[in-house]
Amino acid sequence: MSGNINWISGLSRLPRVQLAHLPTPMEYLPRLTRHLGGPSIYVKRDDCTGLAMGGNKTRQLEFLLADALSKGANVVVTHGAVQSNHVRQTAAACARLGLSCAVLLETRVAAEDTEYMQSGNMLLNQLFGAKIVDIVPSGTDMDAAMAAHVSVLLRRGHQPYVIPGGGANALGAIGYVVCAGEILTQQPSGGIGHIVVASGSGGTHAGLVAGLCLGGRAVPVTGISVGTPASEQAERVWALSIAAAQLLDADAMVPGSDIQIDDQYRDGGYGIAGPATCDAVRLIARLEGILSDPVYTGKAVAGLIGMIDRGDLPRNVNVVLMLTGGTPGLFAYRTSLGEYASGERGILG
Ligand SMILES: *Cc1c(COP(=O)(O)O)cnc(C)c1O
Repeated sequence: MSGNINWISGLSRLPRVQLAHLPTPMEYLPRLTRHLGGPSIYVKRDDCTGLAMGGNKTRQLEFLLADALSKGANVVVTHGAVQSNHVRQTAAACARLGLSCAVLLETRVAAEDTEYMQSGNMLLNQLFGAKIVDIVPSGTDMDAAMAAHVSVLLRRGHQPYVIPGGGANALGAIGYVVCAGEILTQQPSGGIGHIVVASGSGGTHAGLVAGLCLGGRAVPVTGISVGTPASEQAERVWALSIAAAQLLDADAMVPGSDIQIDDQYRDGGYGIAGPATCDAVRLIARLEGILSDPVYTGKAVAGLIGMIDRGDLPRNVNVVLMLTGGTPGLFAYRTSLGEYASGERGILG
């Protein structure tokens, strides 16, 4: 592709700090593959990015925080749900880079038991020394709330840098343009026929699609929406993927048809670990010893199972499931996932 040279030099022009353990492994899951009786299932282990229990946002942060440092920022402001993995990874990265971290949290989930409010990512945010500015009700305009906080910080003489929710802007999405390149160098024999990824704030999905498009590879990607209706999510992801390609001065245009969203696995909505999600989290744990999470990857696993059950994926292809992390969320969702509290005790067999 003639565009390659351009965008690769575009990439090398962007400042980047090293935070993640890369490349993350690509692993075959033989028992899940056999159990589902469909295509060969591989996982891209982005739960193993290393920083603070891993996860996808570390890739976005390598570009976003390099930008913050190059602009002389001393405090990063961001937002997310109470159990946001993005907030936790940002808090850890800021600690590592000597930046302060101020976060606004939104109570997007109705079930606010003690574990949800204090364990999992929340416990880790405190360990990393992040400042919780406020916890505001669901539906609050979070960008406006961040802007208000930024004015306060500026008045007090700080140099704030704002990261949108999920790190989802063009610069953040570049982290997954890089990941797409990594995946293409790790292809199993027979190549990759399909990629399945949880689609939330959209930067991960958008960066993957842009990276595959710029790399000249037509690998279909299905984004499993974790909360937003398909048409709205597709618009968001498409806009982000175009913006990411533009940031690299790429001359390739990401076609709208490259953005595929399945919104049938929202399972109650954002942050709700419904029955299909919990079943998927248990299935991959019991067959492969792999942790998914109740908000994102569990829904992606449920989506993959659904695609195989419907016969959407040919048997003779390799499918890559993006394991994007979220492990600490398991502890915050004990009441949805835990069984031992009321379970029977007894001897095996
Ligand atoms: C944020 C997140 C996603 C989704 O990524 P987006 O870029 O927000 O779409 C997937 N999995 C996990 C574990 C996440 O924390």
